[in-house]
Amino acid sequence: MPFTIAIDGPAAAGKGTISKAVAAHFGFAHLDTGLLYRAVGAKTLDGTDPIAAALALMADDLETDNLRTPEVAQAASKVAVISEVRAALVDFQRAFARRAGGAVLDGRDIGTVICPDAEAKLFVTASAEVRAERRYLELAGKGMSVSREEVLADVKERDTRDRERAEAPMVAAKDAVVIDTSSLGIDEAVAEAIAAIEARRG
Ligand code: C5P
Repeated sequence: MPFTIAIDGPAAAGKGTISKAVAAHFGFAHLDTGLLYRAVGAKTLDGTDPIAAALALMADDLETDNLRTPEVAQAASKVAVISEVRAALVDFQRAFARRAGGAVLDGRDIGTVICPDAEAKLFVTASAEVRAERRYLELAGKGMSVSREEVLADVKERDTRDRERAEAPMVAAKDAVVIDTSSLGIDEAVAEAIAAIEARRG
C-alpha cells in the first residue's frame, strides 16, 4: 500500500537526518527533493538554462557529492523560484510518493503542493542560529573553508527567498505536526517524528 510521509522545513533543521531515520524505521524509500533543485542549480553554474536543465534532469545528475556546497545551495534556491522549473520536477516526485511500499519525501513544499494528501506530514524547524551552527560543523567537517558568519548569512538568505517566493513558498501545511529541533538531540527528534507518524498510521 502506498503511504506518503511529507517532511518539510527550512535548511539544516534536521529534515535529512530525520527523513533517513524515519525511512529506515518504516522500511520506506526516501527522496531528498532538495537534491533535484541542487542538481538543476549546479547546471546553471555552468551556464545551462535552468528550465532546460530541469526538463533534462537524469538520475545520474543526483549522484554527486558536489551538490552539497553553499554555492550550489544558493543556486538551487534561485532556480526554485522559477515556476517552469518546479513544474518539470512535479511528476517525478508524485510518482515516487505513491510507490508501493511507502515513501518519505523531504523538502519545502511536499505537504502543501506535491503531496497535499500525504498520510503524515511533519514540519521540522529550528532557530536560524542553531541551524547555521549545525551546517557550519557539517561543512567544516568535510574540510570546506567557510566561516560561521557566511553560513548564517547563507541560511538566512535562502530562508527568506524560500518563504517569500510566489510559487510553492516554504510554509507548514495546516495539518502538519511541527517539530522544533533547536533544543533536541538527534535521537529525541527522531523519536518525536516516529511517534507523530505512528499516530497518523492508526
Ligand atoms: O533541502 P536543500 O537545502 O537541499 O534544498 C536546496 C534548495 O532547494 C532550497 O533552499 C529550496 O530553495 C529548494 N527546494 C525547494 N523545494 C523543495 C526542496 C528544495 O524549493 N521541495
